[in-house]
Amino acid sequence: MKEERHDVVVVGAGPAGSITAKTAAEHGLDVLLIERNQEIGVPVKCAEGVSKEIEKFVALDKKWICAEVKGANIYGPDGTKVVMSGEKMNEVGYVLERRIFDKFLASEAARAGAEVRVKTEAYGIIEANGYAKGVYVRSIGEDTRISAPVVVGADGVESKVGRWAGINTRLLPSNVSVGAEFLMCDIELNKDYSEFFLGSEVAPKGYAWVFPKGGDCANVGLGIGGDVSGEKHRAIDYLKAFVRNKFPDGKTVAEMYGAVPLSGPLNETVADGLILVGDAARQVNALTGGGITYAMQAGKIAGDVIAKAVQEKDFSKKRLMEYESRWRSEFGKRLETGLKAKEFFFTLSDEDLNTLAHSLAGVKIEELSTGALLLELIRRNPKMLLGLAKMVL
Ligand SMILES: Cc1cc2nc3c(=O)[nH]c(=O)nc-3n(C[C@H](O)[C@H](O)[C@H](O)COP(=O)(O)OP(=O)(O)OC[C@H]3O[C@@H](n4cnc5c(N)ncnc54)[C@H](O)[C@@H]3O)c2cc1C
Repeated sequence: MKEERHDVVVVGAGPAGSITAKTAAEHGLDVLLIERNQEIGVPVKCAEGVSKEIEKFVALDKKWICAEVKGANIYGPDGTKVVMSGEKMNEVGYVLERRIFDKFLASEAARAGAEVRVKTEAYGIIEANGYAKGVYVRSIGEDTRISAPVVVGADGVESKVGRWAGINTRLLPSNVSVGAEFLMCDIELNKDYSEFFLGSEVAPKGYAWVFPKGGDCANVGLGIGGDVSGEKHRAIDYLKAFVRNKFPDGKTVAEMYGAVPLSGPLNETVADGLILVGDAARQVNALTGGGITYAMQAGKIAGDVIAKAVQEKDFSKKRLMEYESRWRSEFGKRLETGLKAKEFFFTLSDEDLNTLAHSLAGVKIEELSTGALLLELIRRNPKMLLGLAKMVL
């Protein structure tokens, strides 16, 4: 078997892996970033909506932005519309073209000095004295033993790297949202707003979305709870019904299926010689299913901490814990609130959701994040949302 050595090997070239690799390479480290697919960013498994917060992690480039949205319209099960729009709203912003965006991030990593290798899949971990010491990879039939004192698992929702290192990454069906999406064209849509549709008939334990992609095109999709998915009740069945109703004459030019972890973050995201970032660490807002900007933020922190570990030649879990404390202090609270809110909203009936939508209908909500929306809802429905208030306040 071929052998190689690097300072750090990053498994998975999504946003989490590419930003980790870029940051570590900027610190002068010898970084290998591997991706199992032949093309980074393909297949797309995402609705591609991000908040303006993305600008904190990358300079905007029109090449990978399809649309800019001014706000969000949320529809209750009976069709009641709640409008969220305003200068200070940070939950919506852009709809990306991820097949270009992900490649762009990987090329930024390469420009910073990382080696990027596609069609290369990690299939096992090298361990010694309880430390992760590298990975075994297969690339077009050829196996290589890649030694590195730091292994980064950025391998997404299906992550295996953490499990190989003994971290419990198991996801119950109730903690997964299964999604289906069509890229549709030739439809009439609100080009300035992302739209969300709630209700057990539309998307049980989830929601449907219409995100503008420029012109007369949009990502039209939905996610449902993994535990309510079954024969004739799969995400695709709900999506076909949604589209029949909403865009009967629309043309579907692409389809995608994917899963989002809604478990809240792992209890442990580091081990000796190992760091997990992004979906692999379950760093997703369980209420919205959004994970791109968290993946990027975590990747930046991971790259910085790995550089220090390499400099100090200390790859212990204790040293790498700085990554865990930093991401928890920067955005852990938001993930926790999202998880609690998701758990609460899943207990609500369609009637309850209608009541909540009615309480906000016609209200000008212009300074909204998910957190602020929850506070506004609690303020207007104190009795009904007492349970939620106890959890998130
Ligand atoms: C239906 C759906 C809609 C979504 N919509 C949104 C949205 O609108 N906004 C938002 O913010 N988030 C959304 N998300 C979530 C978002 O896509 C993820 O949170 C984000 O992609 C996480 O980035 P990542 O780098 O952690 O993982 P990924 O982007 O999943 O990247 C992981 C990479 O690792 C590679 N890989 C896996 N195993 C191996 C291996 N063994 N060896 C080598 N490579 C490997 C994979 O091929 C993949 O390229 C959505 C997800 C789904 C499924």
